[in-house]
Amino acid sequence: MNLLKEDLLDLVRKYNVPGPRYTSYPTAVQFSEEFDGTQLEKNYERRRESSNPLSLYIHIPFCFSLCWYCGCTKIITKDRGRGDVYLDYLEKEMQLVSETIHPNAQLKQIHFGGGTPTFLNPEQIRRLGKLINNHFSMHSDVEFSVEIDPRTCSEEHIIALKEIGCNRASLGVQDTNEEVQKAIRRIQPFEVTKEVTAQLRKHGINSINFDLIYGLPKQNLSSFKQTINDVVTLTPDRFAIYSYAHIPSIMPSQKLLNEADFPSTPDKLGMLVHAIETLPASGYSYIGMDHFAKDTDELSIALKEGTLQRNFQGYSTNAELEMIALGMSSISQGPDLYIQNDKDLSTYYNTLDSGKLPVKKIARLTAEDKIRKAVIMHVMCRGEIHFDDISDKLSISFRDHFYEELEQLKQLEADGLLVLVPTGFNITPIGRLFLRNIAMVFDEYLTKARHKSAYSKTV
Ligand code: SF4
Repeated sequence: MNLLKEDLLDLVRKYNVPGPRYTSYPTAVQFSEEFDGTQLEKNYERRRESSNPLSLYIHIPFCFSLCWYCGCTKIITKDRGRGDVYLDYLEKEMQLVSETIHPNAQLKQIHFGGGTPTFLNPEQIRRLGKLINNHFSMHSDVEFSVEIDPRTCSEEHIIALKEIGCNRASLGVQDTNEEVQKAIRRIQPFEVTKEVTAQLRKHGINSINFDLIYGLPKQNLSSFKQTINDVVTLTPDRFAIYSYAHIPSIMPSQKLLNEADFPSTPDKLGMLVHAIETLPASGYSYIGMDHFAKDTDELSIALKEGTLQRNFQGYSTNAELEMIALGMSSISQGPDLYIQNDKDLSTYYNTLDSGKLPVKKIARLTAEDKIRKAVIMHVMCRGEIHFDDISDKLSISFRDHFYEELEQLKQLEADGLLVLVPTGFNITPIGRLFLRNIAMVFDEYLTKARHKSAYSKTV
């Protein structure tokens, strides 16, 4: 890629518009509070009859302090006792949920996200492990990952996580530069990240991901290059390098950031390009939007073999699993339905006290949604579309079904993002920087302009 030339910047100016990240389709803004309980009941009935393996997500919402850039659903508190109460309610939720699944359905994937899962102390982590074992059956080869805030993770936390079966860790790093850390109110000396990484490996949690963010205040190309140089020395297996999503209308704490300190769009793009151009020399492949993995990692292998998928945790080799999500605000994902729990902690607790699952919103996938979801996930995960393959898989004629979209793609082809061929289309290396924009062509909800302000910009 001959990058950072004026023509690439022109593309960024043209395509840097608000758009979804497509961890789901329909996306969360289309979920509705107006639903009929029978839809849920039908979903639970189907679940009770299926012994297919499952994925379990548990949201731990608490954090000790606020990072000003944060876009997650969290509660800031220093009171660790709130973790005990939350676990009481997770237990109630597990009891109700376990009644809706087949007794032989095993957990093949577990993920603790947040907030900050390591807000829980080691004893609370052990209790959570017991609760999972009491209510679900675990596959012998479970992929068990935990999001870790290195600032709140002691060796005892790691020992407890290992004891309950954790075998993967994702560390929030964001940026190693002190000025950037001050600007975002997240002080995390590099030594802390280094120490936690070493302890994870010492205790046999060997699959490690680092989350970085580009586009933060006080970042510039040179500071970001140094961040990359720093983190590469710790040789994590994967990097997620996210574009900072500035949506202060939805995340009011982001208003605390000084907008004058944000890098320019060319600088921000330069950071992504730098990562894409330099990480391969350190043995990492560019998986797609935001993600890099060691060439030997299963994500890189899945990309090469065309089996890569995407879900709420980003790219995955297990995204086809039905996801059961527990905790406030979490989103379960079945073949026909997305189900989101209440985002308000007291309502989440009160609903469970009344013996009901704390469902707040759902999205039922129509036949058309399923078709579009498959195409969008293909765009996000594969880099090419074969009309006949998709037509066969979805029992449609791709050319007829997406006649208008194919017309729209001609403009993206003229801009060099993809190449239309008689059998389909191939996404170019430059087009891989604009996967969201290509996917957006197939998103029929985007015509409803009222949703657009809910998304971050695509670059
Ligand atoms: S970035 Fe992570 S640790 Fe910081 S406030 Fe958000 S969820 Fe909590």
